[in-house]
Amino acid sequence: MIRKLLSGAALVALALTAVGCGEQPAPKVEPPPVEEPVSTVEYAPPTNVMIASDDFSNLYELDNVTTPVYDQYTLWTRQEMGLPMEAPYLEPYTYEKIAYLTFDDGPDDKNTPAVLDILNQEGILGTFYVVGTQVEQFPDMLKRIYSEGHAIGNHSYTHKYNELYPTASNFLIQLTNTDDLIHEIIGVRPLIIRAPGGRAGMWTDDYPPMMQACGYFEHDWNISCEDAATGMKLSAAEMVAIIEKQLDRGVRNDAAIVLLHCNAGKEETVLALPDIIRVLRERGYSFGVVTPITPQPW
Ligand SMILES: [Zn+2]
Repeated sequence: MIRKLLSGAALVALALTAVGCGEQPAPKVEPPPVEEPVSTVEYAPPTNVMIASDDFSNLYELDNVTTPVYDQYTLWTRQEMGLPMEAPYLEPYTYEKIAYLTFDDGPDDKNTPAVLDILNQEGILGTFYVVGTQVEQFPDMLKRIYSEGHAIGNHSYTHKYNELYPTASNFLIQLTNTDDLIHEIIGVRPLIIRAPGGRAGMWTDDYPPMMQACGYFEHDWNISCEDAATGMKLSAAEMVAIIEKQLDRGVRNDAAIVLLHCNAGKEETVLALPDIIRVLRERGYSFGVVTPITPQPW
């Protein structure tokens, strides 16, 4: 399925509107035409989500770590309706030891369902930073993640660094394309994002203001099982040992944001997951989903 990308001009107009640049009102921008992803399975809607209000004011009421937050509008719709797009400043949640299990680069049809089954058995919620091209291939798995009450975050459309990191506008194009795709499938879009490779190594100074202006909350990680490290193929036991060592060093604000992956080839991560959960429990962590009030990892 080929997805039509936004034209650069349309995107720049959106970005300029978002950051409030220029005296002239930005020209009206039409959202790009989209193809309907093929989805065959119906799931019940989740019961634990918060939908952001038109002006985002209800986000100030968010006071727990098990309620994923979504927007019912795409940025295009917000722009068209004249609704605010800018992310409000929220006090981070720092009241207890929380582990945020984050699963990047999915969904797929093998490791993602295996992860979901384990989370189900353990009675905990996770956060899935999904890639647009994967969502196109596995729309039903996106529905299942949403339906089971986990948080979904935007992890770009192609995940290709050379396409994401020439400029902040390139990055924003991919976020809005993936937003639109997710919105078509589950009727809401994420407010949380994760930069492929991490913002720490990838973003220049232009990125944070644009993300803030467009209402996105980015979270890197402070614990990693190293399951995507190049040149290494770690066993499940090695991953658990690495995580224990990192936990020994301590995490900021008692918030352990754990980087894991659930795409093809990450079978060892699935094998390690029950032990990773056990280790975190033994150290007194409860589990939460990433939301706009999740503290920054560093
Ligand atoms: Zn990734």
